[in-house]
Amino acid sequence: MASPQLTTISPSINPSKPVNHYKAYKPRPFKKEERDKVTILYGGLTWKHERLIQGALHNLNYKAEPLPNITRQDLDAGKELIDVGACCPTIFTTGSLVNLLKKKVADQGKDEVNDKFVYLTAGACGPCRFGQYHESYSMALDGLGLRDFRMFLLAQDELDQGAADGGGLEINMPLSLGMIWGILCADLLMDLEYMTRPYEVNPGQTDRVLKESIEYLYDKFRNRPSRGKKLGPLAWHLMTNYFTRALRVIRKKWEAIEVDHLRVKAKVKVTGEFWLQTHEGEGNYNIKRWLEQEDSEVVPPPVAVWLHYLLHPSIRKLEHRHSTSKHPRLQQMMLKALERVYRGTYNRFRKALGNLPYELPDQEELRRLAEPFYHFELRGGEGHMLIGKVLHTYHHKKAHMTCELSPYSCMPNTMSVGSMANVLGKYPDLLYAPIEVKGDSEVHALSRCQMILTEAKKRAKAEFESVLKKTGLTVDAIRKFEARHPELRSATYRIPHRDCAGVAANYVLHLVNDRGLASA
Ligand code: SF4
Repeated sequence: MASPQLTTISPSINPSKPVNHYKAYKPRPFKKEERDKVTILYGGLTWKHERLIQGALHNLNYKAEPLPNITRQDLDAGKELIDVGACCPTIFTTGSLVNLLKKKVADQGKDEVNDKFVYLTAGACGPCRFGQYHESYSMALDGLGLRDFRMFLLAQDELDQGAADGGGLEINMPLSLGMIWGILCADLLMDLEYMTRPYEVNPGQTDRVLKESIEYLYDKFRNRPSRGKKLGPLAWHLMTNYFTRALRVIRKKWEAIEVDHLRVKAKVKVTGEFWLQTHEGEGNYNIKRWLEQEDSEVVPPPVAVWLHYLLHPSIRKLEHRHSTSKHPRLQQMMLKALERVYRGTYNRFRKALGNLPYELPDQEELRRLAEPFYHFELRGGEGHMLIGKVLHTYHHKKAHMTCELSPYSCMPNTMSVGSMANVLGKYPDLLYAPIEVKGDSEVHALSRCQMILTEAKKRAKAEFESVLKKTGLTVDAIRKFEARHPELRSATYRIPHRDCAGVAANYVLHLVNDRGLASA
C-alpha cells in the first residue's frame, strides 16, 4: 500500500518584498509649546457635560472643542471604516470623529489637521469593546490617510496620569478634577431639566433656563482658581464652596419657571449601555425627547453612577480576599473613605439645588438586588448594574417603567437582557422595555417601547385617581389651594417621594399630609 503523501504548505512569501508587520498606533508627541495652537477634540457625553468639560479645559489654557452631536450619517461613516461586528456605540463615535475630520481636511488640508488637532478619549481595559475603542479610531484614521493624527487616552481610573509624550497634554489633578466636577454639575442640571420640562407651563422656558445655567457654570469652571498640581487642587475641590454658591444662583433661576404638577405623566427610567443611555440625539433615536412627546417624564441616567460603580470592583475584590494588596484592610478603608467623599460631594451639590436632583443609588444595594440574577464579577458594560437599577426602580417606585437601551452587537447588554427573563418571571408586573438600538430601525424600536409605555400610562392614571379617591380631593380644590400658595407652582418646589411613582399622585399626597389641605 502506498504511504499517504504529505503535502508541504509553503507560505507564499516573496523574499524580495519587505514584510509589513503590524504596529500598534502610537501618537506623535504633543509638545508643550504647541498647546496654544492645537485644539483638543473630545465627545461622547451630552452637550451639557461637554460644555462644562470645555470650561475646565479652557481654565487650563487648552484649546478645546467637543465633537458635534451624533447624526445618522455618522453611523454610515463608521461602518465604512471600522471592523465588522463592532458594537453600535463604537460605530457611531468613530463615525462622528471621521465625519468631523473629513470636514476639517476639506477646509484646511491634511497637514493642518494632523498638526492643529488632537483627539482625547476615555480608555479602559476590560472584557467589552470599550477597551478597544481607540483601536477602532486608529483603524479609521488609517482609512482616512491620517495615521499622523494624534489621539490620547484618558484612563478612567487614574486621576494623575502625568504628561503625555511631549508634555503638551497633562492629565493631572486639576484637569481630572475639573472634568469630574463638571460631569457631576451637568448630571444635576440634567435631572432638573428632565423633571421640569414635562410640567412647564410656558413651553421652551426650561430649555432657555438650562442653557443660561450651563453658560453660567461654564464661566465658573473657566475661572476656577489655580491651586497647584497635586494635593492643592484636591483639597480645594473638596472644601471650597465655589461650586455650591454657583449652584445656589442657578436654583434661583429655576425658581422662576412655572410648572403644573397635576399633569399625569408616566415616569420612565432610562438605563442601558453607558453611551447609549447618556446620549441625547440620533444615536438612540432621540428617545428621551420622544418619550416626553409621548406624555411621560424621563428619569435620566447620570454619569455619576458609572463613576461610583468604578470604585466598587476594587472594594469587592478586597472584601472577597481576591486582591494582591499587601495592606488590604488599609486599602479597603481608603476606598470606602473615597466613596464617602464622592457621595458627600454629590449630595452637597444636590443640597445647593434644594435636594431636587435624585440621590445616587447605593451601589451595595444594586449589587444585592442583582445578585440572584447576575453576578457582580461579570464585568463589561454596566455589569450587574442593569439588573440592579431595574429592580431598584421597581422596589422603590422610582418610575412606572424602565426603558433599557441595548446596543446592537453588545455582549454585556445581551447577557443582562437575557437575565431579565428570569427577573420578569419573578416580578411579572414589572414594566420593562428592552430596546435594541442599531441606528436604522427607529420605528420598530419606538413602537416596541410604546407598547410598554401604554401600560405605564394606564398605571400612572390609575394611581392618580386612586389617590384622589383616597384623599377625597378634587383637581378644582387643588387649583384653588395653588392660587393661595403660588410657590407650589414653582419648578424648585420639592415634592417628597411618597408611596407612588408618579409626580401628580405624590403631589396630592404631599398637599394632604404636609400642607394640611383637606377635602371639602
Ligand atoms: S458595553 Fe457593549 S456597546 Fe458598550 S462598548 Fe462594551 S460592547 Fe460596546
